[in-house]
Formats: sequence, structure tokens, C-alpha cells
Amino acid sequence: MAARLNLVVLGKQGAGKGTQCKRLAETYAIPHVSTGDILRAAVKAGSPLGREVASVMDSGALVSDELVIQLVDERFKEPDAKNGALLDGFPRTLAQAEALEALLGEDGIKLCINLDVPIELVTRRLSARRVCQECGAIYSDSDVEAISGTCANCGGDVIQRNDDKPDAIRKRLESYERDTEPLLAFYEKRGLLVTVDGAESPDDVTAAIKAVVAQRGLA
Ligand code: ADP
Ligand code: ZN
Repeated sequence: MAARLNLVVLGKQGAGKGTQCKRLAETYAIPHVSTGDILRAAVKAGSPLGREVASVMDSGALVSDELVIQLVDERFKEPDAKNGALLDGFPRTLAQAEALEALLGEDGIKLCINLDVPIELVTRRLSARRVCQECGAIYSDSDVEAISGTCANCGGDVIQRNDDKPDAIRKRLESYERDTEPLLAFYEKRGLLVTVDGAESPDDVTAAIKAVVAQRGLA
């Protein structure tokens, strides 16, 4: 059996993690595990978990380590994760990175891809971002779908995420610097970090990531 391909994708909010993970999930036939998507689905469903985290998420703050670690633990037990996973938005604190290491043991993280994008560019991308509430498709504020408010994929409502409003964007980027940036050194120390220029076009970024994965003999 092939070794599990567990890849962590790191980068500021708006660096393009979700877009790249969707593409790579298809290429490598492993699931895209986004803690943000899992939490948003819980909020939308109005589950007890969703009710607990909704206001924290809207403000742009992080939910507790314990809670997301448990979510990821459960997600890894699902059959589609048996060959690995693309982790998007997790880990994003040192405590989460350590918990992930403990969780995966020997069959650990194979690579951490750092999507590097300057802060001015991600701020611009996040303010312009609109999303379909039903299917998660991402649009820019100049797309006809965003202007008309209707998703071209599924007909769902296209809206601005509450945490893509200016105050929340600022808070999220501060949290990235404070809580998540230390993970770069964590993975660097383990020889697992590669940095890719995330300011390039989505196709170029995908190609750069695939090249590194191939170079390392991971797939
Ligand atoms: P972004 O990375 O652009 O902030 P996400 O969709 O990854 O967007 O996450 C949205 C929100 O979900 C975060 O602001 C936070 O409140 C919560 N969240 C997601 N992943 C984590 C995590 N690993 N730890 C703590 N909170 C998380
Ligand atoms: Zn849609």
C-alpha cells in the first residue's frame, strides 16, 4: 500500500489555500480537509457545535484548540482519509501542530507547503471575495455572480463572509502572524517546509506544488 500522503498547506488568509487544495485533492485522490469549511457547515446546520462557534468565527478569532483537534481526529477516521489528506486551515497554532504529530505518529506529515503572499495582496483578495453559501464556490466582487447574488454552479446565494469584513480581516491577519507563523519554523526544523510563491496565477502555483511533491518522490 502506498504511504499516506498527508500534506499541510499553510499561508495567510486569502493566500489561496482552499483553491489549491481543491485542485490537489483531485490530483492525488485524497480529501481536502478544511477546518474552516467543517466549522462553517456546522454553523449553517445550526448544530450545537455550530451554535457554540458562530460568534467567535464571525469576529475573526480562533476557536479552541481542543475543539478543532477533536474535529480533525474524527475526520481522519473516515474511510476516505486512509491514503492521506490535504490539511487546509489546520494546524494553525503550535499546540495544534504538536497534537497533529501525536495523532499521526510515524505515518506523519510528508510536507508543509507555505503559500507565500504579501499582506497587501491578501487584504485586497479577502475584501473582494464573495462565496456561495450553498456550495462554497468563490467569486470576486466584480464577477456577475457576485453582483447578481446567484451562484453559477448551484443557484445558491452568493454573499460576503462576515469574517471578510474589514475589522475581522485585520484580526485574522494578526492571528496569522501571532499564532500561525511560528509553524513555519516548526516544519522547517523537521525538513518538511517548502515555500511557493502564492502571488502567481492559480495554475502556476498548482504546477509549482506538484513539482515539489514529485521532486520529493511523494507522488
Ligand atoms: P481563514 O483561514 O481565511 O480565516 P478558514 O475558513 O480557514 O478561513 O477559517 C474560518 C474561521 O474558522 C477562523 O477564523 C476560525 O474562527 C475558525 N477556524 C478554522 N480553522 C481553525 C483552527 N485550526 N483553529 C482554530 N480556529 C479555526
Ligand atoms: Zn453554489
